[in-house]
Amino acid sequence: MTIPFFNYPALFGDQEEKFVEIFRTVGRRGAFIMQDDLRNFEAEVAAYSGAAHGIGVANATDGLELLLAAGGIGPGDEVIFCSHTMVATAGAIHSVGATPVPAEVGSDHLIDADKIEGLITERTRAIMPTQLNGRVADMDKILAIANKHGLDLYEDAAQGLGASYKGRFAGTFGKGGCISFYPAKNLGCFGDGGLVLTNDTKLYNAMMAMRDHGRDPQTGEIVGWGRNSRLDNLQAAILSHLFKGYDDIVARRRAIAARYNRRLQHINSLVLPPPPDADPARFDVFQNYEIEADRRDELKVHLSARGIGSLIQWGGKAVHQYPALKLSAHLPYTEELMARMIMLPLNLSITDDEVDAVCDAIESFYTHG
Ligand SMILES: *Cc1c(COP(=O)(O)O)cnc(C)c1O
Repeated sequence: MTIPFFNYPALFGDQEEKFVEIFRTVGRRGAFIMQDDLRNFEAEVAAYSGAAHGIGVANATDGLELLLAAGGIGPGDEVIFCSHTMVATAGAIHSVGATPVPAEVGSDHLIDADKIEGLITERTRAIMPTQLNGRVADMDKILAIANKHGLDLYEDAAQGLGASYKGRFAGTFGKGGCISFYPAKNLGCFGDGGLVLTNDTKLYNAMMAMRDHGRDPQTGEIVGWGRNSRLDNLQAAILSHLFKGYDDIVARRRAIAARYNRRLQHINSLVLPPPPDADPARFDVFQNYEIEADRRDELKVHLSARGIGSLIQWGGKAVHQYPALKLSAHLPYTEELMARMIMLPLNLSITDDEVDAVCDAIESFYTHG
C-alpha cells in the first residue's frame, strides 16, 4: 500500500470531464482575462466570507504585497508576523520595503498573542498573523493589542478559507487578508491563484487598479503605479465550480481530522491539534493535520518505509531560521516546536481505511519501535 501525502493527479482526475468542459466553454467564449467568471468568483468568495470585496490575484503572496502596499506599509515600517509560517508571509513584507519582525508561536501553533507587545517599537505599523493550518489565531487578543497601539492588522489567510473565530471569517478581521488557491490548498486550482478579502472600499479600489497595471477598472485610465497580478479567468471558472462543493470539502477534511484524533489521542508521545468540535468559538477547516511527535525524524522514516507520505513543513524551519534572510530573533519555543512537527496526509483522496493504516503505523512505531 502507498498513501501519498498529496495526490496531485487526483485533483484533475476526479472531475476530468467537468474540467475539460469548463476549458471548452471558457475557451470558446475567448474569456481569458478578467471576464464574468472572475467577477462571479470574486463575489462568491467575498459573500461566503462575509467580506465586502474580493479581488482575484495571481497568487496569495502577490495579494499580501498588494494589500500592504495599498495600506501604505513601506520602507522604515516594521510588521510583526509569526515565524511559524511560510516564508511568503515575510517575503511580502520585505517586498514592500518594510521589515518583517518574527514573533513566537504559541502552543496552538499560531502567533502567540502574549509575545507581540514585547516586539513593538516606534516603527511598528502592523501585525500580520497567519491563520495557519486552517485555524484562526486568538483574534480578540490580537485586535486588542492592535487597537491599543494604533497598529493595522493584515492577515495571511492563505490557508484559512472558511475558517472562523466567533463567527468571523479568516481574512476579515483587519484591513484585509489573502487566500491562496495553490493546488494543495483546500480550494486548489491548476496552477497559481489567490484572492484578497477586504471590507475597506478605498483599499479595494486601490488594489483593483494595482493588480492591473494601475488601470482604473471602469475607465481604463492609469490612476497610479501598478503591476500585473490578475487571477486568470480560466482558473477562476474552475475555482468557481469547485467552490460550489466547498462545504463538502471542508466537512470531509474535518471528518478526517476527527478520525485521526480518535485513533491517535491515546498516544502520549504525540500532541494533536484540537478535534473539529473542541472549541465552540472556532470553526477549523484543517488545511493541514500537523502534529507534534517525539522522535519526529524517526517516525517519518518509519512511515515512509510503509509507503506513507508525511511532510516536515518548510524543511522544519521557522522563517527566522533561514540564515540567508538575516532575521535575527530569539524564539526558543518556535525552534523547539519546529523540531517536533510533522504533517500527516489529509486530503480529499485519502480513504478512511488509509487514515486507519496511517494510525496503525504510528501506533506500531510508538509501541514497538
Ligand atoms: C500557500 C501559502 C502562502 C502563499 O500562497 P501562494 O498562493 O502560493 O502565493 C502564503 N502563506 C501561507 C501560510 C501559505 O500556506
